[in-house]
Amino acid sequence: MTVQAEVIVVGGGMVGAALACALGHGGIDTLLLDRRSPEREWDEGQRDIRVSALTKASQAILECIGAWSGIVQRGAAPYKDMRVWDGRSEGYLHFDCADTVFTELGHIVENRITVAALWDVLDSLPTVQCITPAEIEGMDLTENGRRLRLTDGRCFKAPLVIAADGRESALRSMAGIGVTGWPYQQDGLVATVQTEFEHQATAWQRFLEEGPLAFLPLFDGQCSIVWTLSTHTAQRYLALPDDEFLRLLQQASGGILGDMLKIGPRAAFPLKFQFADRYTDAHFALAGDAAHAMHPLAGQGANAGLLDAAALAEAIIVTKRDGRPLAGKQYLRQYERWRKGDNLMMMMSMDLINKTYAVDSPIFAKLRSFGMNRINHTAALKDYLNRHAMGLRDDLPCLAKGDIFW
Ligand SMILES: Cc1cc2nc3c(=O)[nH]c(=O)nc-3n(C[C@H](O)[C@H](O)[C@H](O)COP(=O)(O)OP(=O)(O)OC[C@H]3O[C@@H](n4cnc5c(N)ncnc54)[C@H](O)[C@@H]3O)c2cc1C
Repeated sequence: MTVQAEVIVVGGGMVGAALACALGHGGIDTLLLDRRSPEREWDEGQRDIRVSALTKASQAILECIGAWSGIVQRGAAPYKDMRVWDGRSEGYLHFDCADTVFTELGHIVENRITVAALWDVLDSLPTVQCITPAEIEGMDLTENGRRLRLTDGRCFKAPLVIAADGRESALRSMAGIGVTGWPYQQDGLVATVQTEFEHQATAWQRFLEEGPLAFLPLFDGQCSIVWTLSTHTAQRYLALPDDEFLRLLQQASGGILGDMLKIGPRAAFPLKFQFADRYTDAHFALAGDAAHAMHPLAGQGANAGLLDAAALAEAIIVTKRDGRPLAGKQYLRQYERWRKGDNLMMMMSMDLINKTYAVDSPIFAKLRSFGMNRINHTAALKDYLNRHAMGLRDDLPCLAKGDIFW
């Protein structure tokens, strides 16, 4: 038997789950498929080493779809300041929420907290059915849509299938959409660390020869680190005993948070620059990491994906409200035009910053120092960058502006 819906979303991570929530609120009959159920409960004090810095725009989206209160209840750490400095020059940048109309610049949230809060909302939406485990075996193009075949023999069909199944998206390959990109030969080493000094609700980032080291404040007083290192170094550091790792971390931090006292489990994620050649095809669209993977140095991957989710949900809901068929192409093209340029711009900026800081030459160090200090003392430029980092750009989808349109 084939189960039919108006939209099928494959992938219930931050992006797919947010998209399914928005569609469900907008009265779209939605199926959400994931190969596994998300973690919804855990022991108190046990931290997820994967965290994201969520922007004000992401917060607005999560508020509109009803997930923000669940996130705050489980634990979200506001950060009020962001301090960025160059480990090999005098370059320094300071962003302060006091220069904005907000009480914080954003929040650091464990990824599993965001996902759990989104799935709580999905449970309450009669328009959304979540199916796990669901492993996709194949996807066929039919006259009026797409049909998904699961490895256990079940079939699902809809006029629109959305792939939010992450960076290595199987659905993207099944749709025949290629990618352009390259590996950075760098890993993002992540862990939770207890530091001697308080984090002061500040996101700290020091640029070093192999890549930036970030200390992100957590709600329990600890910090989450994202340390970009060459793949070789990252693998070596993963294998070090805790005390040796803490010593190297302390050295790399420049002592900004005092001694490094305790470290939790460590993991390293290979980093890639990758974008899909197209975001859409007949009865098909990509969102989140399935469409674009970027360097995490400014913590924008999930935020960009949440903007995709908000924009795509808006295009779908408005199309249905206007009585146009979801099997059409026009609204999908509109979504692609809306998001692709913005995402590419963000990815290329991250790429450029990563490359600029990788150059180990005294002239470059002087240039970086001049550039950073110039920005730090130029209010208009700093305000522009700050607003961008907070996700407050022109042409935002309604949900990112806090506008519930359904
Ligand atoms: C070190 C590091 C630090 C980062 N820090 C930040 C940050 O501070 N801020 C930020 O915004 N971003 C950050 N990012 C990026 C962010 O983590 C990703 O952009 C985000 O998780 C992507 O979400 P997604 O939902 O698109 O994909 P994913 O999180 O990969 O979710 C994909 C989902 O699809 C499911 N799935 C996959 N394949 C299938 C299949 N075949 N069938 C069924 N289901 C499937 C998976 O089970 C999963 O649930 C960071 C990334 C790294 C590596």
